[in-house]
Amino acid sequence: MTESILIVEDELSLQETLAYSLKKEGYAVEAVGDGRSALESARKMKPDLIVLDIMLPEMDGFEVARILRKEMTTAILMLTARDDEIDRVVGLEVGADDYLTKPFSMRELLARVKAQLRRTRMLREEMGQNNNSEPKHETLKFDNLTINITRREVTLNNEPIQLKPKEYELLLFFAEHKGQMLSREFMLERVWGWDYIGDSRTVDVHIRWLRQRIEKDASNPVRIVTVRGGGYRFEG
Ligand code: CA
Repeated sequence: MTESILIVEDELSLQETLAYSLKKEGYAVEAVGDGRSALESARKMKPDLIVLDIMLPEMDGFEVARILRKEMTTAILMLTARDDEIDRVVGLEVGADDYLTKPFSMRELLARVKAQLRRTRMLREEMGQNNNSEPKHETLKFDNLTINITRREVTLNNEPIQLKPKEYELLLFFAEHKGQMLSREFMLERVWGWDYIGDSRTVDVHIRWLRQRIEKDASNPVRIVTVRGGGYRFEG
């Protein structure tokens, strides 16, 4: 199956270069130059990946990502031009899966695109496998915390809690590796699909947020504990 990519970039020469390089790699590519067209095309096309610039006419990339995140789980790779945008991109506000700072090389972009698409494929396969042999448990229970995998719902003391897509994936990843020490690098690779040395701040920021949602006292966590010099461990 041909994987499809939507490019959202208003700088025409860059848009053309991106489209050309990605088509050459065998992807089905569509390209638009503003935020509103991005929403329209994404809804019609349901791409496997969106390469999304931040500074755009009509509606900026932050807004586009925020809206699309509510509608679809498509991976989003953001293009940033300024350092001060990075915190917003990797933070929970936007929930991008990855980002590249301009200027970047096409080689770099292709590597990130491949990593994201591989991750999407892996997730799909895992979901597909649930239908046949050895179905995964529909719900995981840890004391007063319940994760309903089928419905992607988390409850604490029987009250639903709202998690952003990456927070949910991170929690599920922890739950499936209860008691194991997980390094930031391992989590970046498995939860974010980054197979290079990524920015571990991303992991820390998400864990801080997750703790605020599921810990009784986020400053004294007992569920997600920090392992000195190592990473994190989920205690249940
Ligand atoms: Ca731009």
